[in-house]
Amino acid sequence: MKNTSQSETISIIGAGLVGSLLAVLLAKRGYQVEVYERRPDMRKNTISAGRSINLALANRGIYPLQQAGLMEKVTPILTAMKGRMVHDLEGKQNFQSYGQKVEEVIYSVSRGQLNKICMDAAEETGLVNIHFNQKCESVNFIDKTMTLTDELSNESRQVTFEHIIGTDGSTSAVRDAIHQVNSSQHDIIPLGHSYKELRIPPGKNGEFLIDKNALHIWPRGGYMLIALPNEDASFTVTLFMPNQGEISFENFDTPEKVKDFFKRYFSNVVPLIPDLSQDFFNNPTGKLATIKCSPWHYQDKALILGDAAHAVVPFHGQGMNCGFEDALNLVETIDKYPNDWQTIFSEVEKNRKINGDAIADMAIENYITMRDSVRDEKFLLRNALAFELENRFPDYFCPRYSMVMFHRLPYAEAKSRGSIQEEILMQLTDSARALDDINYSIAEKLIKQKLSRVQLNPN
Ligand SMILES: Cc1cc2nc3c(=O)[nH]c(=O)nc-3n(C[C@H](O)[C@H](O)[C@H](O)COP(=O)(O)OP(=O)(O)OC[C@H]3O[C@@H](n4cnc5c(N)ncnc54)[C@H](O)[C@@H]3O)c2cc1C
Repeated sequence: MKNTSQSETISIIGAGLVGSLLAVLLAKRGYQVEVYERRPDMRKNTISAGRSINLALANRGIYPLQQAGLMEKVTPILTAMKGRMVHDLEGKQNFQSYGQKVEEVIYSVSRGQLNKICMDAAEETGLVNIHFNQKCESVNFIDKTMTLTDELSNESRQVTFEHIIGTDGSTSAVRDAIHQVNSSQHDIIPLGHSYKELRIPPGKNGEFLIDKNALHIWPRGGYMLIALPNEDASFTVTLFMPNQGEISFENFDTPEKVKDFFKRYFSNVVPLIPDLSQDFFNNPTGKLATIKCSPWHYQDKALILGDAAHAVVPFHGQGMNCGFEDALNLVETIDKYPNDWQTIFSEVEKNRKINGDAIADMAIENYITMRDSVRDEKFLLRNALAFELENRFPDYFCPRYSMVMFHRLPYAEAKSRGSIQEEILMQLTDSARALDDINYSIAEKLIKQKLSRVQLNPN
């Protein structure tokens, strides 16, 4: 790795997943990094890690962790999920594999544990200082200062900076500052659905009560329940449901209503969640929205990455993975244009914004897939055909889910290839009921006409 500049200090706002990984990557290139984090140190205080307790880590999130030298620490805390286990209304389970090869799995990982590993690694470089309980209130680009408030004493102070990276999440103060001095486009698109976390504890002998190596889904059309495994044999269960209407967070306002709803639609889960009402009424209801904005940077002074730049709904399990790719893209761009911060920041925005927008769109589409399509015979046939076409024409065809989760080609490319492939799959399965009905010479013709060769993992 290059030591592009040891004389410059980078300030990062937010020591969440993206900010703390970025601190490691920058320090490995010789930068002094000052990180300001609003919350207390999660390694010393028992605080909730924020949003979801666990997350899905995929190949494109693993690659930046490898580049930061962190996988040795991360691997032991991962639980492989090989596919979705779909639970129907009668409690029957149907396993749908995510991929075709042994390595085509995603991993459940504890958000807090992963964050702590990144923070420890950042501090171990000797070049990173993380200042906790420091909330960035505002940024002044003229005199290159930011105002920080100490969350414990409530006192404010001004701190100077050279280059500031905002990884301060979906309510980013750095984004607000950039947009105050630029004519900006800023869309917050609420989903109209929220989420609630519940818990399936381990069994009496410390065992997993449902299949450990799957992401469980109870798809019910307009809403769904999912569960991801934790290392301690528990599952974090998340209910996604509309904010308003008959089946909604607004309507389920008594323990009786919640119990009735669960008994009716998720009957095989009820015995597994002993604290259902307690979890439901004590745990917060999290709102979901997509954020698309521009610009992401201001001159050579500031850049936003991660959720600050592109908050996405969680249905493709890619928000963190995308943010990790952003962080790696920033340091790779620094290597390309040493010290030319204006070019670095504008190149990163050029490279990453189209991809942030693409995963945001695919994540919304995947909500329909998860809560509804996974029950549909035609969807299952198209999925089976996608695997078959991948086997027959591997240089051209790769299922969209695989492109997003198991490979690193840009999201925007995965999205555009994915829509062409979907048309091909629709056309081929139009009058088919099983794979035996597919005409593979027509398939070959269509694929080679409409798709270029695919490069799944660019260098
Ligand atoms: C229910 C749910 C499930 C999800 N599941 C997945 C998944 O399976 N896979 C996946 O890849 N992604 C998932 N995500 C998305 C993922 O959580 C985010 O994309 C990821 O946390 C973004 O990281 P970040 O560091 O950019 O922002 P954050 O994690 O939000 O971190 C921002 C940090 O900045 C700090 N901060 C905020 N404002 C300030 C301020 N003014 N001054 C100082 N510090 C500040 C915060 O305290 C926080 O520590 C999920 C999200 C949700 C809601």
